[in-house]
Amino acid sequence: MGGLLLIRYGEISLKGKNRREFENRLVGNLRRMVGERARVQRIHGRVLVETVDGIDPYQVGEDVSRVFGVVSVAVAERARLDLQAIQTKAVALVKGIMERRGLVHPTFKVTARRSNKSFPHRSLELNRLVGGAVLSAIDHLSVDVHHPDINVHVEVREREAFVWAEVWRGPGGLPVGASGPGLLLLSGGIDSPVAGWMAMKRGIAIRPVHFDSFPFTSERARQKVYDLCQVLTAFQHRISLTVVPFAAIQTDIQTHCPEGLRVTIMRRMMLRIASALAERDGICALVTGESVGQVASQTLESIYTINAVTNLPILRPLVGFDKEEIIARAQRIGTYDISVRPYEDCCTVFVPQHPKTKPHLGPVERAEKALDVSALVRGAVAECWQVDFTRGAEPPAL
Ligand code: ATP
Ligand code: MG
Repeated sequence: MGGLLLIRYGEISLKGKNRREFENRLVGNLRRMVGERARVQRIHGRVLVETVDGIDPYQVGEDVSRVFGVVSVAVAERARLDLQAIQTKAVALVKGIMERRGLVHPTFKVTARRSNKSFPHRSLELNRLVGGAVLSAIDHLSVDVHHPDINVHVEVREREAFVWAEVWRGPGGLPVGASGPGLLLLSGGIDSPVAGWMAMKRGIAIRPVHFDSFPFTSERARQKVYDLCQVLTAFQHRISLTVVPFAAIQTDIQTHCPEGLRVTIMRRMMLRIASALAERDGICALVTGESVGQVASQTLESIYTINAVTNLPILRPLVGFDKEEIIARAQRIGTYDISVRPYEDCCTVFVPQHPKTKPHLGPVERAEKALDVSALVRGAVAECWQVDFTRGAEPPAL
């Protein structure tokens, strides 16, 4: 027999049309996450995921608890709208948990909720009646209403009741896609994949763009970016990466622009190309892994001068994070080990000895006169290519 997962979702502040959009997206994303393993269905204020025969609900529950928009996931039991049926399920549930976790003298409590007001027992009375049944059916058990080992939840709804005791926390946020697409500037570093994850958490479907410095960087640098995209499909079912050949542009900058301004100009070229791609594809925001003050290109003056080439909003979800916090998050997402593989990225190849930490707009604009900026942008947009990643599929070859 299959198992049942009861899913609670946010955000409470959403109303009307936004709420419907949220729920439809969430159900769609959950269906893509579980595939053939379970049936997903919405009931008032919750989503039910019923696993098919032979599929472990705990495994599916773990996958489901990564989906943005999910606040919590519980492995639940269904019961008829009948006190005895609810008591029987509660007893079986507690026995099962004690066995599985090897608990000898656990404490427990019952937390009942009755949204169905025609059910004859009120919530407090249910706590007592179900708790009493569990106590008399199982030895070596005691009640602790403050810090129980097992908290048995009972929810009495219109047509049926649910009983559960084990809850995973989900990531919260909004279902991916609910906020439209955003173009993510994805390097092979630690920060930008985390920025992508945080954008996804707010419902943005990311479209990564990578500026590729091959042959100055090796193919392994490109492989890193591919591997990062594959990991991120755990959160967004399909990811379409745009690779922009960037070596020729870097060479041009290297040849024609003063050393101290090269990083600034390189960043401005990246932003111009990203903006052109966004415009081509009808995307109205960029996302980067920038923070404030980490490196020379992230002083406020530098951000100002780099930002000046685009009118698009640039989301910088990491702006308030310390490096330690970003690293901890990257480890949880599963991108950290890939990001720290020791291959050079485009910036380490071209970083000058003394980049200007406060590049002023005037000198930068004058230096760029040595480049045919619009031809370089057009060329890059024409030469970029697409690589698609799908959750669970073989990653594409280099
Ligand atoms: P990361 O760890 O994400 O590389 P970082 O702290 O090393 O960030 P920078 O190298 O200055 O900082 O890059 C700042 C941001 O610029 C990156 O987070 C990313 O969004 C973007 N970026 C840098 N290099 C590239 C690249 N080769 N392709 C795409 N985006 C890039
Ligand atoms: Mg970097």
